[in-house]
Amino acid sequence: MQYISTRGYAEKQRFCDILLEGLAPDGGLYLPEHYPVVSSQTLEKWRAIFQRDGYAMLAFEILSLYIDDIALDDLKRLCQKTYTQKIFGTPQITPLRPYEENIFFLALSNGPTLAFKDIAMQLLGNLFEFELERRQQNLNILGATSGDTGSAAEYAMRGKKGVRVFMTSPLGRMSKFQQSQMFSLSDPNIHNIAVQGVFDDCQDMVKAVSNDLTFKRQHNIGTVNSINWARLLAQVVYYFAGYFQATDNSAQKVSFTVPSGNFGNVCAGHVARMMGLPIQNLVVATNENDVLDEFFRTGVYKSRSSQNTFETSSPSMDISKASNFERFIFDLLGRDAVTVNQLFAKELAQTGRFSLAMHSSFHEAKQNYGFLSGKSTHENRLKTIRDVYQKLGEFIDPHTADGVKVALDLHELNIPMLVLETALPIKFAQTIFEATGIAPLCPAVFADLESLPQYVQELPPDVSVLKEFIVTTLHTNPVV
Ligand SMILES: *Cc1c(COP(=O)(O)O)cnc(C)c1O
Repeated sequence: MQYISTRGYAEKQRFCDILLEGLAPDGGLYLPEHYPVVSSQTLEKWRAIFQRDGYAMLAFEILSLYIDDIALDDLKRLCQKTYTQKIFGTPQITPLRPYEENIFFLALSNGPTLAFKDIAMQLLGNLFEFELERRQQNLNILGATSGDTGSAAEYAMRGKKGVRVFMTSPLGRMSKFQQSQMFSLSDPNIHNIAVQGVFDDCQDMVKAVSNDLTFKRQHNIGTVNSINWARLLAQVVYYFAGYFQATDNSAQKVSFTVPSGNFGNVCAGHVARMMGLPIQNLVVATNENDVLDEFFRTGVYKSRSSQNTFETSSPSMDISKASNFERFIFDLLGRDAVTVNQLFAKELAQTGRFSLAMHSSFHEAKQNYGFLSGKSTHENRLKTIRDVYQKLGEFIDPHTADGVKVALDLHELNIPMLVLETALPIKFAQTIFEATGIAPLCPAVFADLESLPQYVQELPPDVSVLKEFIVTTLHTNPVV
């Protein structure tokens, strides 16, 4: 399998190259040259594998269709090392549980940092270590996080040989729990950077460094943001795992509702659908930062400035530019890299918006690709958390609550709706308390997290200052 850029960069790449690269040299995002389409026989075979041998072996089946530069035995071993009950808490890894008639939670947040990002990041940590060892190389991961990516990346990479993490986050914008989870790590290969700005400032800085090819090569800069194809690929697996738990044969369809920010998670659903997974609808649920909902309703994609990005009670979705969205638009436009380049590198960059409202493919999109969307507000979120608590006697986190709200608005009666549970409520205790008057219990392992010493460097939103910090750190603190 070869990989191509959404902006048409001529050179095709293999999996392990893009694993370490992140953005393509032309600023585009990598996608496989084609999506392998699985027959209903293969689906049934995978169902049997999932039921008999478990999630890790299902992951191996799917990953092996996209990765042909790691020996199959090695790939299998990496999957088995990653998806264990010990790391993810349950034998199913992503168990399904019912909410209401035909509405389910697909639990993705039982990994080490209690958010769905662990599922991809734990695999990435093992892939990186394997590949860097093979190449005898080091990698300096530069990332941006609004909360959950950062901790998931740091917990996946801590202590990994040859890997160092520089993680930017918006100063004071994460929950107390998220912040302490990251800043309390004392591993010498982990560097926290609090940026005086919002998440998009962090993301822009990371993009700017990644676009500086000389700097990137000279200092072995890599990324773990959701633009990394390997992460997306890892996430494709749980759409299949969810499907197999919700159905008993491959003639059945299901829908998914996905709490969305950077469009990474739901883009993995899109890939699963392109591979032939019988998905009726992919429902994009946003919070008040509703650029994606606006696009799916109107065909107009308008990124927002940082000043116009709301600080909400589902902060991991507080983005104003959905960095993975370009992948979907590439498919939507029949993989026309020239137009994608025009839209993203020119129109969006210059005017902050583009419109596909008059484009025939946009209107086909809802039918062909099954996308629907909706939005949830602070009020909706609190009410949903309360409702679920009253019904089930358990808490859900605010992002999952956005998903439930939109799922209830849009689900079809006879089609199982799987709401992706993207984090555990303890990460957002304040909002749970606001909704219900009750504080969720903290798991014992995290009990004194917030009182531990914090390791963090504060920086202005300035690319040159960030570069300087990286260079200085590399000089004064070489990895062992
Ligand atoms: C990252 C995150 C999201 C958004 O996922 P995207 O892949 O960026 O769309 C939603 N909920 C939680 C809890 C997250 O951590």
